[in-house]
Amino acid sequence: KRGLSFSAGRRSFFHPRPLEPPSLLLQTLDFFLQRTMPKIKTNRVKYPEGWELIEPTLRELDAKMRQAEMDEHDGKRKCEALWPIFKLSHQRSRYVYDLYHRRDEISKELYEFCLDQGYADRSLIAKWKKSGYERLCCLRCIQPRDHNYGTTCVCRVPKHLREEKVVECVHCGCQGCASGD
Ligand SMILES: [Zn+2]
Ligand SMILES: [Zn+2]
Repeated sequence: KRGLSFSAGRRSFFHPRPLEPPSLLLQTLDFFLQRTMPKIKTNRVKYPEGWELIEPTLRELDAKMRQAEMDEHDGKRKCEALWPIFKLSHQRSRYVYDLYHRRDEISKELYEFCLDQGYADRSLIAKWKKSGYERLCCLRCIQPRDHNYGTTCVCRVPKHLREEKVVECVHCGCQGCASGD
């Protein structure tokens, strides 16, 4: 009985406050990390044939991403600080995508390996195969709930349909990724 009244009396103290919605920066970071961080390398990983041909480029992009993460963010808006990382991540996915789908220079095995290991974003690549999304910058820019106005990011609006000729979207700094641009 005593325990009951104790907990009843304390309830207000322990009642969790409603969580504040995560900031755009945190949401973006979280979203990004889930998708684009290469898995930790272990010696048990078996590298498919041809890996040595693409490893230098992947490593270089990796190093640039790490550098971008460490760069000073003074004077930049928080979202802007993430743009270089998004850009490099996009570049890396595009590199792997092109090697297999356009240049036909790597095996399916190596391509799948890159996707599995997180060197390219499988979901983003799936979009690139769809008509109208060939140049899509990042997945956030097509998530309706992330946009205050309309259902799509300003960077998805074709140049000839938007009033401002130069844009930089808040999510990834994209300057326009509509297919016809
Ligand atoms: Zn875009
Ligand atoms: Zn955008």
